[in-house]
This record gives sequence, C-alpha cells and structure tokens, in this order.
Amino acid sequence: MNAEHYDAIVLGAGAAGLSAGIYLARANLKTLIINEGSIGGQMVLTHAVANYPGVREASGREISQVMKNQAKEFGCDIESNVEITKLDLTSKKKMVEIDDDEIFTADVMILATGGKPRKLGAKNEDKFKGLGISYCATCDGDFYTGKDVIVVGGGNSALEEAVSLTKWVKSITVIHQFDNFQAHEYAIEQAEKNSKISFILESKITEYLGEQNVEGVIIQNQKTGEFSELKTDGVFVYIGYIPNTDKLKDVIHLNEREEVLSDENMQTNIKGVFVAGDVREKKYRQITTAVSDGTIAALSAIEYLQS
Ligand SMILES: Cc1cc2nc3c(=O)[nH]c(=O)nc-3n(C[C@H](O)[C@H](O)[C@H](O)COP(=O)(O)OP(=O)(O)OC[C@H]3O[C@@H](n4cnc5c(N)ncnc54)[C@H](O)[C@@H]3O)c2cc1C
Repeated sequence: MNAEHYDAIVLGAGAAGLSAGIYLARANLKTLIINEGSIGGQMVLTHAVANYPGVREASGREISQVMKNQAKEFGCDIESNVEITKLDLTSKKKMVEIDDDEIFTADVMILATGGKPRKLGAKNEDKFKGLGISYCATCDGDFYTGKDVIVVGGGNSALEEAVSLTKWVKSITVIHQFDNFQAHEYAIEQAEKNSKISFILESKITEYLGEQNVEGVIIQNQKTGEFSELKTDGVFVYIGYIPNTDKLKDVIHLNEREEVLSDENMQTNIKGVFVAGDVREKKYRQITTAVSDGTIAALSAIEYLQS
C-alpha cells in the first residue's frame, strides 16, 4: 500500500496539536494533523472561555474553529474523526495507519493526544456533562456565583479547587468516598478552616438528578449503604485525569499516572518524537499551556529537522 510522506505528523487536534500545526505549516513544512476525536478536543467542552488572552470571551468551539482555519490556511492537512490502527514511532521514518487502510509517514511526530477527566460512573453523568457537571473550577467557577455546589474527591486537586471555588459560590459540599483525604496537610487545613466548605465522607454520588441542568444528586453512604438526596446547582468532579496514552505506552516513557515524560523542549525518549499539551507530565492544564507546549514542540521539531 502506498504511503503519503510528510515532514511532520501531529497526533491530536486540540489546542496543543493545532498550535503545533500552525507553527510547522508556517515554516513551510508539509504537515498533517491526525485526530481521533472531533477537532478542538477538550476546548469544545467549554461553552465560554474567558481566560484565553486576546479573546475577551468566546466558546471553546469558536476558538478551536479559528485555530483550525489558521492551520489550514498555512497549508496544514487535517484528518479528523479517524481511528489510528497502527503506529510506529521508533523507526527513523515514523508511520501512522488510519482506519485500516491509509498510511502516512513522517520525519518527525508530535504527540498531542490530550486527556480526559476521570468520570464518576454515576447515573445520568453523560446527560448532564456541561449542564451542571464540570471538571474545571478555573474555567467554570464564576458561572456558579452565589450558588451551592458539590466538589467530588479527596485529593489535592479536589480540596484546592474547592477552596478556589469559594471566591464565587455560596457553599460547597465536598463528597469523598473514604474517611480520610489523600491530600497534603496544608490543602486539608485550608479546606477545613473555610466556613463555606462542609464535608460528607465515606459517600459516593450514584445518580445525578434534574431536568435541563443538575438540580440534585443521590448519595450512598459507603458504610451503611443508605441513600440520601442532596440539592445542588452544580457538581465539580476531581477524581483524577486519564491521559490518552493507550497507543503510546509500549514505546514512550510515561510516569506512574501514564503521562508522557519530556524535557522542557518537549523531547520524549524517542528521537524525532515530541509531545505537547495535557498528555504530558505537568501541573497546570489550560488552553494557554497547551498552546505554549504546541509552540515549543513545533519549534523543537523544526530545529531537529534542520540538524
Ligand atoms: C470541561 C472543561 C472546561 C475547560 N475550560 C477551560 C477554560 O475555560 N480555559 C482554559 O484555558 N482551559 C480549560 N480547560 C482545559 C483545556 O481545555 C485543556 O487543558 C486543553 O484544551 C488541552 O488541550 P490539548 O490539545 O492538550 O488536549 P485535548 O484538548 O485533550 O486534545 C487532544 C485531541 O487528541 C485526540 N486524540 C486522543 N487520542 C488520540 C490518538 N491516539 N491519536 C490522535 N488523536 C487523538 C482527542 O480526540 C482530542 O481531539 C477545560 C477543560 C475541561 C475538561
């Protein structure tokens, strides 16, 4: 089967992948972005992005459309909503097969496959995603100004995000499945001393309730098995994050959370393979940080091709 050769292939068309595509194509490199989901990645989950510099407020979908058009105008090819059926990152010429029938090769590859927040697995979770269920306090906190919300989780993210949400909300109930937190002492102390925050421990949300938006949840006590109902305006879930590294893990070095390891130039353990965005090991996951990673990965790839 014939393979079409590119200078660079980017896996993922989220903020990181599209930014990398813009830089690569603008440097006159023949560039292809291959995306397994829909273009924009997690950006399209956000109905109003208010913290992307230069854009006062726009939906994530609008921002991703502009990024996509920009990449295309510079000459970047995009294959979206496809399935990667084979991947060879270790050969000098990198190879991707999509949908069992099309093969592309490239001299460099950028991995920008992002990630997804871990879900609770409670009933109606998909129905209310973005309609009262959020995975990002930084992004959505101010939409809940003056409201009562729930934060799910007992790690650092859950407790730190609960404290940060107190800037906006009237009250927060932290629901955690165990009787102790898996967070640093400082994070626990800050949450416990905040008068807006109360706790329901040893409990899990089993169901989301509501018509258009979340209006309440059913909680099950893990010790007694008893169910109870709690009214709420929104639920923020912080029970972990899953990087999209399934197809990479055999060859790319990952940390214990299965995030891709890299140096500050986005270089992975394999020559000619760079990484960008939420899929890599880092602390802050935002559109701005994904764009920054994508830029650095593309510039590193360009330098690698010139060396
Ligand atoms: C609900 C929500 C709201 C948010 N709101 C904001 C906000 O207001 N402001 C802000 O700055 N940040 C916000 N964030 C965070 C921000 O969206 C992310 O940090 C950023 O978009 C990550 O971009 P990325 O390109 O690294 O990854 P992603 O957006 O995850 O994109 C990765 C892309 O790669 C595709 N893919 C996955 N596996 C493969 C594969 N094997 N091969 C090819 N493609 C693959 C995926 O389908 C996806 O399209 C929010 C996040 C969420 C979940």
